[in-house]
Amino acid sequence: MSDNVDESQAAEAKSRQTAIDTVRCRPSGLGPDMSDGTPRCRECGDDIPAARLAKVPDAERCVTCQEEAERCAARQETAEQD
Ligand SMILES: [Zn+2]
Repeated sequence: MSDNVDESQAAEAKSRQTAIDTVRCRPSGLGPDMSDGTPRCRECGDDIPAARLAKVPDAERCVTCQEEAERCAARQETAEQD
């Protein structure tokens, strides 16, 4: 009996986390944060190198955060296949 309760709580927690991930993984489409005149990662606030912007002009995350976002997006795809 208590197992069923645990399972439903786990499922609820998982769907809540998926909803949070959906917001975090999605690009805003706004490009880098330019609020102080320097292109910065919208996630962590680090400078986005000019070389990265040359390749990805609308990059809104540094490489580290972009990789994390891509892992996050991959997790979502896995979750959707359940
Ligand atoms: Zn970052």
